[in-house]
Amino acid sequence: MSIKSRFAPSPTGDLHIGGARTALFSYLFARRHGGSFVLRIEDTDLERSTAESVNAILEAMTWLGLEYDEGPFYQTQRFDRYREVIGTLLEQGKAYRCYCSRERLDALREEQLEKKIKPRYDGHCRDRTAPPSPDTPYVVRFRNPLDGDVVIDDKVHGRVVISNTELDDLVIARTDGSPTYNFTVVVDDMDMGITHVIRGDDHLNNTPRQINILEALDVTPPVYAHVPMILGEDGKRLSKRHGAVGVMNYRDAGYLPEAVLNYLVRLGWSHGDQEIFSLAEMVALFDIEDLNAKASSLNVSKLDWLNQHYMKTLSPAHVARHLSWHMGQRGVDPSEGPRLEDVVEIQRDRYKTLAEVADNSVAFYRRPAEYDEKAARKNLKAAAKEPLTELRRDLTAVEDWRREQLHLVVQAVAERLELKLGKVAQPLRVALVGGPVSPTIDSTLELLGQEEALVRIDAALAWIEANAGDA
Ligand code: GLU
Repeated sequence: MSIKSRFAPSPTGDLHIGGARTALFSYLFARRHGGSFVLRIEDTDLERSTAESVNAILEAMTWLGLEYDEGPFYQTQRFDRYREVIGTLLEQGKAYRCYCSRERLDALREEQLEKKIKPRYDGHCRDRTAPPSPDTPYVVRFRNPLDGDVVIDDKVHGRVVISNTELDDLVIARTDGSPTYNFTVVVDDMDMGITHVIRGDDHLNNTPRQINILEALDVTPPVYAHVPMILGEDGKRLSKRHGAVGVMNYRDAGYLPEAVLNYLVRLGWSHGDQEIFSLAEMVALFDIEDLNAKASSLNVSKLDWLNQHYMKTLSPAHVARHLSWHMGQRGVDPSEGPRLEDVVEIQRDRYKTLAEVADNSVAFYRRPAEYDEKAARKNLKAAAKEPLTELRRDLTAVEDWRREQLHLVVQAVAERLELKLGKVAQPLRVALVGGPVSPTIDSTLELLGQEEALVRIDAALAWIEANAGDA
């Protein structure tokens, strides 16, 4: 049997971290078994679904690199098919028209609540053969079995048995003929040939109803794996209180997709005590049987650690592609300065996230519009005029603009003027990047290039002239 799994988000907001993990597990499962992975957009809730959310989900899937083999399918484009299946179930007597009025249902519910019974439909129209009057509106209900059990051999939670007496006759079409949520999921899983449903365990309650409908349609239900929730760092259910939980918030915060995927896979899945997994390794090792039935909590310091690992070990060209986006966010066009790959090589050991790298790399592409006040007061004073002038002269003469060579020049100026290296390098740094922080002075010079470095030194000298006088 060839395996087919799916990810079926409802586009009512951004793809959040829990959804992304579900998508990852479904993706890995399909890949592991050489099967296919389907993306289905469950957009039948017209009031809550938005095109913006659809785009956000697609963007997040692309950013994570979770490629799907089929889809995206949109449920809103399948209404004819749902109607057709409803027709078949009606014809076969597996569903029936229910003419009960809102008032009757409300009264029933109240009565049940009073008697402290779980509210459920009482089957009033189950055996009705004709409508009360020709134009009475009706819903369509699924004729749920009255006895017996539904057994779910869940791959995460184990065997779950629900008695049919717990379930009532689910509405599968509303009075306007539109299909309801549980029904569309069933028709899609059937039509798309889904063999494995991996989804959040908030859907476990829906599963017995879905299995009953599938069986009525003479389809063998898929295998289910209901994945536990992700909790916040405090062990509480994830909510807005926990800050950004959308996948793209992680991109914005400077994490690489490799780090996010690795982080996500470890929330609920493990392989011995291994922590680092490339996507290929995850594919080779993943199994739903190894999913943890207990909820897992977010752990941001672990994500930081993973991100640093991937920033340091992935190819500079790859990291540069992601850094490029962050530079763009800061209004920087990376083609107008040093090669981003070189920036990556120099900066990646110094920071935890690409956002930090970007913040601290803007200066390579943009001349300081002003100097950090404190740094300027300390370093761009009259006493800096001489070392900067000397540096300017000696750097102009450099023919081989490589950091080893540049290091020697800076050192020679310090020695000649009998100054500590810092008294030469720090004014130079402030001149070059506008503030007190940059990579080593020789690599900063190398990155900027000769022409740009000289322009910036001139600007700093002019600034000293104008601001620090010659005291
Ligand atoms: N659309 C549902 C959700 O976003 C998932 C349904 C399913 O996986 O069966 O929660």
